[in-house]
Amino acid sequence: MRIGIGYDIHRLVKGRPLIIGGLPITYDKGLLGHSDADVLTHAICDALLGAAGLGDIGTHFPDSDPQYKDISSLTLLTETCRLLTEKGFRIVNLDATLLAEAPRLTPHYPEMQTRLANAMNIDAADINIKATTTEGLGVIGKGEGIAAMCIAMID
Ligand code: MG
Repeated sequence: MRIGIGYDIHRLVKGRPLIIGGLPITYDKGLLGHSDADVLTHAICDALLGAAGLGDIGTHFPDSDPQYKDISSLTLLTETCRLLTEKGFRIVNLDATLLAEAPRLTPHYPEMQTRLANAMNIDAADINIKATTTEGLGVIGKGEGIAAMCIAMID
């Protein structure tokens, strides 16, 4: 068994769609980034790459590369899983936490799990998603961004 950790944060801005866990969420702001800025999916990719000893998302999918401009991060996740499979690894489970003051994310967990599981070709029950606010504290509490953490176990 091997474990890996992933963390990501993106700035919330007007004029961008909000996509978390591959799911478009209705909100007046979205996350800024080179890809679709899906903070949860990025944290998952980094946790998986970390567990496999394969570096990080920035190395495999650099934001200086035009082919990743506005790309769905689910595509990056599928590619990440392909890299793991290539090394003979299998995903055991993922546990992720979103840090967001708003919008309310709880109602969206099942659909996020389904989309992520499809991208990874694993069981949705092996992906746990949860969220917390930061009680109004710091940049996340002020609604300037959304962050995500993930721990992955592989074998
Ligand atoms: Mg990111």
